[in-house]
Amino acid sequence: MAVYRIVLYGEDDVLREKAKPIAKINESVHKLLDDLRDTMYSNKGVGLAAPQIGVLKRAIVVDAGEGLIELVNPEILEASGKETDLEGCLSIPGVLGEVERAAGVVVQGLDREGREIKVQANGFCARALQHEIDHLDGILFIDRAVKIRKAESGRG
Ligand code: ZN
Repeated sequence: MAVYRIVLYGEDDVLREKAKPIAKINESVHKLLDDLRDTMYSNKGVGLAAPQIGVLKRAIVVDAGEGLIELVNPEILEASGKETDLEGCLSIPGVLGEVERAAGVVVQGLDREGREIKVQANGFCARALQHEIDHLDGILFIDRAVKIRKAESGRG
């Protein structure tokens, strides 16, 4: 188990850069997914993207209460509906904002064996997937949020 320190907003430009696609699934990718999972759970997050532990590669993990989702090179294939809800981020602790997201998404990517998979999600899970995929393009929820405010704890 490897728990990494989460990069905080304002301390490193890595959160603002575009992450690179992963060309080949190998042991280092397995380790990256394991590290993301362990770091997410130990921080009680619902999602984590590789740039948040300082790795500029396109990998995310999400667990919005429906089980662990691991995705390499995720892309949103379909988005439907709109929903506004509160969002936070482990890289921006103590801040919440209202963000409009698609209510449902279909995301395509690779699983840890390199197989192409499609994940269909709605509501909170769809929101978490969109939030984490944004991280891979250097986009933070505060870029999209309205009514940003201080909170007791972040959650994404
Ligand atoms: Zn985040």
